[in-house]
Amino acid sequence: MPVHTGILDAEDFAGITVYQGRGVGGGSLVNGGMAVTPLRERFPAILPTVDPAEMYSTYYPRANAGLGVTSVDVNWWESQDCYQYARVGRKHAERSGFPFVFVPNVYDWDYMAQEAAGAVQKSALAGEVIYGNNAGKKSLQKTYLAQAAATGRVNVSPLHRVTSVSPAAAGGYTVVIDQIDTTGATLVTKTVRADRVFFAAGSVGTSKLLTRLKATGALPLLNEQIGKGWGDNGNVMCGRANHMWDPTGTLQSSMPTAGIDNWDAGGAFAEVAPLPTGIETYASFYLSITRTPRRAEFSWNPATGKVDLSWDRAWKQTSIDMARSIFDKINSKEGTIYRTDLFGAYKIWGDHLTYHPLGGAVLGQATDNYGRLHGHPGLYAIDGSLIPGNTSVNPFVTITALAERNIERIIAEDF
Ligand SMILES: Cc1cc2nc3c(=O)[nH]c(=O)nc-3n(C[C@H](O)[C@H](O)[C@H](O)COP(=O)(O)OP(=O)(O)OC[C@H]3O[C@@H](n4cnc5c(N)ncnc54)[C@H](O)[C@@H]3O)c2cc1C
Repeated sequence: MPVHTGILDAEDFAGITVYQGRGVGGGSLVNGGMAVTPLRERFPAILPTVDPAEMYSTYYPRANAGLGVTSVDVNWWESQDCYQYARVGRKHAERSGFPFVFVPNVYDWDYMAQEAAGAVQKSALAGEVIYGNNAGKKSLQKTYLAQAAATGRVNVSPLHRVTSVSPAAAGGYTVVIDQIDTTGATLVTKTVRADRVFFAAGSVGTSKLLTRLKATGALPLLNEQIGKGWGDNGNVMCGRANHMWDPTGTLQSSMPTAGIDNWDAGGAFAEVAPLPTGIETYASFYLSITRTPRRAEFSWNPATGKVDLSWDRAWKQTSIDMARSIFDKINSKEGTIYRTDLFGAYKIWGDHLTYHPLGGAVLGQATDNYGRLHGHPGLYAIDGSLIPGNTSVNPFVTITALAERNIERIIAEDF
């Protein structure tokens, strides 16, 4: 099959397929925009070495403002065909006694209202999401990247792939970069010297680079924690087959607005997800985030010249059991069953994937408590690789808030 750069990558490891955004803006280009701040009482389990007080007073608010996070107008939501699927999700959750919670998003709600009125180009209401939104979503090129560009001090080089970072003879680091075309072929290899290098290639990208560079001797002083503490945020998907009197709608907004919170009792927070096929499916669809303790490790494989990940597909059973704490009960109450046709023949659970890779250069282990990589001063990790495997909710607000916290300290002390 021909390959092209961007926009959604499904990267296969032995036990799991990891979905990631590719392009300037990373996952913000393809994600569902669900912008969830975890409940404060759950934060110590997410980032045990970080002071919750500073996160909830300063860095979560700063991240939410920087990302343009807002909440849907519930009166509007109640009245729209495109959120019928979510109202069905609410009805079923509440009838089984589960808390149904609205969650904020980075989508522009005024724009979505105009989509519903037929006044503008449709994006969320045209099913756009995992292959990118052409309008309406405040992905990073409209927020943080626009602010950075406005300083006049930032150059962005699209279609460039970092292949090596190593200490430079003159001090600082030599960074080797391939400029690629849209088939991925290398056009030219460039070398730059930098005093400081921030790894922001995502949990998988940063972990793969650091694991290889340590093992092959380019960055030999990185510590033994590199590549460790990787988790899938407990992601598991499923669908339920509703009765004919509970249609979920032919028009479904691709931007989720709500979840079912059974974290404390059953270890699962389930996003009430759209299934925007354009036809009536009578299906309710969910992405569960679960409290799985499973963690994998990246390692260098000299035989293949690639980085492996030690994830075992069987580990997803823990997440399935936690998701079932919600959906077995709802099915029993509603007299409904799981869909068996969404992930292959007669398969209930989407247990082969994650959308939420986290860890591999864990804060306070591979780095100090602010993301400075141990062993090589001037190298930093500043992305999802810092978070040890689970955020209890969708992760990008926490990744952003942690980056805000760390960069403030690094600018004050290191520059
Ligand atoms: C389909 C989908 C839906 C999602 N929905 C949500 C949601 O609703 N809410 C939520 O909170 N989270 C969601 N996520 C997850 C969220 O998008 C990620 O957690 C987040 O983007 C991770 O941010 P990051 O900065 O760690 O890395 P990324 O956003 O992955 O950015 C890393 C960037 O670095 C680039 N890169 C990698 N290697 C190299 C290299 N060697 N050289 C140069 N560049 C490199 C990548 O191409 C990418 O552009 C979703 C993810 C997917 C895939």
